Amino acid sequence: MTDIIQLLPDNIANQIAAGEVIQRPASAVKELMENAVDAGADDIRLIVNDAGKALIQVIDNGRGMSETDARMAFERHATSKIRSIEDLFRIKTMGFRGEALASIAAVAQVELKSKRTDDETGVFIEIENSQVIKQEPIAVPTGTSIAMKNLFFNVPARRNFLKSNAAELRHIVDEFIRVAMSFPEIFFSFTSNGQQVFHLEKGTMKQRIVQILGNSYTAKLVPVQEQTDYMNIYGFVGKPDTAKKTRGDQYFFVNNRFIKSAYLNHAVMNAFNEMIAKDSFPMYCLFIDLDPSQIDINVHPTKQEIKFEDEKIVYAFVQSAIKHALAQFSITPTLDFELDASIQSLDAVSKPFTDDKRSSAAATSLYNTFTKKNQSHFIESKSDLKHWKDFYEPGEKLAVEGSPLTGEAFTAGQNIHPHNPFGSAGGQPVTTDQLLQLHNSFIAVQTKQGYYLVHQQNAHERILYERFALAVDGKPMATQRSLFPSTIELAAADAVLLKELLQDMHHLGYLLEPFGNNTFVIQGTPADLTLGNPQGAVSEKTAIEKMLEQYKHFSNDLKFSKREKLLRSLALQQSIKAGTSLSLKEMQVLIEELFNCQVPNSTANGKPTYLEFKKEELDKMFGR
Ligand code: ADP
Ligand code: MG
Repeated sequence: MTDIIQLLPDNIANQIAAGEVIQRPASAVKELMENAVDAGADDIRLIVNDAGKALIQVIDNGRGMSETDARMAFERHATSKIRSIEDLFRIKTMGFRGEALASIAAVAQVELKSKRTDDETGVFIEIENSQVIKQEPIAVPTGTSIAMKNLFFNVPARRNFLKSNAAELRHIVDEFIRVAMSFPEIFFSFTSNGQQVFHLEKGTMKQRIVQILGNSYTAKLVPVQEQTDYMNIYGFVGKPDTAKKTRGDQYFFVNNRFIKSAYLNHAVMNAFNEMIAKDSFPMYCLFIDLDPSQIDINVHPTKQEIKFEDEKIVYAFVQSAIKHALAQFSITPTLDFELDASIQSLDAVSKPFTDDKRSSAAATSLYNTFTKKNQSHFIESKSDLKHWKDFYEPGEKLAVEGSPLTGEAFTAGQNIHPHNPFGSAGGQPVTTDQLLQLHNSFIAVQTKQGYYLVHQQNAHERILYERFALAVDGKPMATQRSLFPSTIELAAADAVLLKELLQDMHHLGYLLEPFGNNTFVIQGTPADLTLGNPQGAVSEKTAIEKMLEQYKHFSNDLKFSKREKLLRSLALQQSIKAGTSLSLKEMQVLIEELFNCQVPNSTANGKPTYLEFKKEELDKMFGR
């Protein structure tokens, strides 16, 4: 028998390693831009073609590379940023694993041009499959340009896995914004298929935010600024009236690196507490600086999630800094100051942090409050998740479980054959004296055999879904043209999203026209606004924002088409909500329309629309 173990050839090992670092075009954009920042550039240009699938190029005017360094840079574990393991914990630069360029060279055709200030000529290197295939001197300005072509050309499985251009471009826009936002002192531009998407002049943080998120924030930003020896926070939050129905404009940076943190987000939301409507999201762009030894950035491979040595302190600090900022600008009653003052005087915050300080801080009641109370949001968000999951799976199990009414007394709407008891198609017409609304949320419909309990929102969602589905399938809904069209300005990423949906939205009666700069003109809205529709009350702008927020909830990974997601989002968002009082006439129409649906017994997302209670079963339950 011969031995069978072999070492993987370098290029294959690199391709495997690359999988972790370069998952999609946007990951390469992030790595290349971070390298340019680390190289001290103050002018960084990003060029992509075909959403990065054909070309991603980053050109900087940073310090450049020597000929040897340029070759070395593409080796795995090649970095100028770490010398020892301790460096890992001190590191302040953006990229630090020495893996990015090696990974890129493993999965794309790369061309590098680079020159240092004092060198007479620059260097040109071409690489394919991790092999240098060409190297020659070249005349170039100081700085570095790295172009990667045909991403995943040699890993077809990954290439096929990429999403539509619109979706990949959106990821790229997100990454671009995350880097550009934290370095207002650097000029950035972004060109996609020859069209300039961003041109961000150097300026202040405030100017940068407005450049990126739109003019609507001018004069609407509240500065946040607190400094202690333990950590600093600075940045801006939007005034409460700029809170939007979509979650887009929220950014956290720790040591200038964009991070995602549900925990810190919760701290901000808490600080805004009663000042904004429940389902709206305040804008924020916050920078936290603290000793790198207090965080562990390596917990997440793409480095967007971090672990704080002491997250409760960070939570308290963030929350109090924002309350303070809002109070100073008299946006919130000064009452909230109390908390702020108590946190400021906490040793942990006001003095350098040592181990014995830590334990004394942990003993204070404030600290304990944060330990318990603010962890509840984890539970909250978990139950949210569960809720969203219910959403996708047709619910075989219904809310019946755990109910005191067990057994056959009622059949869940889901399980019965839709036999259309009411409505024009075969069933009996519903009369208003059969109807009773309960809790402004349910409609009881009494029949000879018992009664139906209809969930008004779920029912309406089903009705709207079928109506919308019909509309996009070629029976477009009428549009009412606005006499005075209003405009809606979105975050860049949301604008990309909305552009994808314009055509289908038009079928649904929304006439929107791109107007440059992430702005759209709302030329018209559906003429036939439906029963109980809250649209009369909210502006069409809010309706569109809400729709986008809903749409984003249907994560990319789900196997729904764009159109399906749009239909579901609109139906969900426009349905009459539980808690809305309905007139008898409205209830009657709702019931008839529900039972005229193709699938009256559940929403598109699988929630039941009604339960049936049979009189004979009820009798049995009462021993009759
Ligand atoms: P890391 O950034 O973790 O060091 P990379 O693979 O991203 O690893 O880069 C390897 C090295 O190549 C860097 O440490 C740096 O010395 C050099 N380098 C990469 N990009 C640039 C650039 N745009 N300008 C100058 N040097 C660069
Ligand atoms: Mg790097």
